[in-house]
Amino acid sequence: MTAPVLEVKCLKKYFESSGWFSDDPPAKAVDGVSFSIEEGETLALIGESGSGKSTIAKTIIDIHETTDGLIRYQGEDITNPISDQMETIRSDIQLVFQDPTSCLNPRRTIRKTLLVPLKATGVPTENREARVSEMLERVGLTDEYLHKYPHELSGGQKQRVNIARALAVEPKLLILDEPTSALDVSVQAKIINLLDDLQDELDLTYLFITHDLSLVRNFADETAVMYLGKIQEQGPTEEIFESPRHPYTRALLSSIP
Ligand code: ADP
Ligand code: MG
Repeated sequence: MTAPVLEVKCLKKYFESSGWFSDDPPAKAVDGVSFSIEEGETLALIGESGSGKSTIAKTIIDIHETTDGLIRYQGEDITNPISDQMETIRSDIQLVFQDPTSCLNPRRTIRKTLLVPLKATGVPTENREARVSEMLERVGLTDEYLHKYPHELSGGQKQRVNIARALAVEPKLLILDEPTSALDVSVQAKIINLLDDLQDELDLTYLFITHDLSLVRNFADETAVMYLGKIQEQGPTEEIFESPRHPYTRALLSSIP
C-alpha cells in the first residue's frame, strides 16, 4: 500500500498573544487536527471563518511553524521541514488563494506571470513558450490572453491564471484556500468544474478549503467539518450530507439555501 499523499496527525498551531505585557493564553488556532488524503482524492475542509482552516494550509507549507503534531507528504515527515524538503514542498505542493487579484503582479503580462515559475524550476528556455500556451489552454484561456495585464481580466479569468501558474511546476497536491469565494456564483461553478477536469487529467490531489458547504457536495470525496480549531466530524462527503452526526454540522447544513 502506498502512503497517503498528505497525512496530518494531531496538528496544533498556537499563536502567542502579541501584547508586550499580555498574559493572555495563546490562541489555539488549530488544536489537534488529523486527516489524510489519498492520491487523486479531494478532501474538503469546511467551517466558518476563524475556525482554523487557513492556518492548517499555512502550517503545511511552512509559512507557519508547527506547534505540535506531524505532517507527512507521501510518507515523509515534513513537519518544520529542512531545506531539502522545502524544495520538494515548493514544487509538489501548490497553494491557490481566495483573492485572484492580490497574487498577480499588476505590471506583469500573463505570459510573464506564467514564465516566472518555469524559469524558477529550470524548464529549458526553448520549451517555455510552448509550456505557457499549454498551461493557458488547460485552464480554458487562449493565446490572446498572453499579452494582457491582470486588470484586463475578469475575476474568474484571473483565478484561471492563478491555477495555471500553480500547475506550472507540475505539482501533485493543490491546496485550494477558498479559491472561488471572491467570485460570482456562476463563475464559481465554472472554476469548480475546471478543477474537477484538471484533477482527472493530471492525477492531482486536492485539499479544498471553503466555508461554503454547497460547493463541496459533488466535488469532494471526503469532508472534514472544522469548528474552533478542531475537526468536529469527518467522513465520506455523501455521509456527512445524508446523515450528519454532529450538531454543528447539522446547523451548517441547515444554513444551505
Ligand atoms: P479560517 O481560515 O478558518 O477563517 P484562520 O486559520 O485564518 O481561520 O484563523 C484561525 C484563528 O487563528 C483565528 O482566530 C485567527 O484570528 C487566528 N490567527 C490566524 N493567523 C494568525 C496570526 N498570524 N497570528 C495570530 N492569530 C492568528
Ligand atoms: Mg481562511
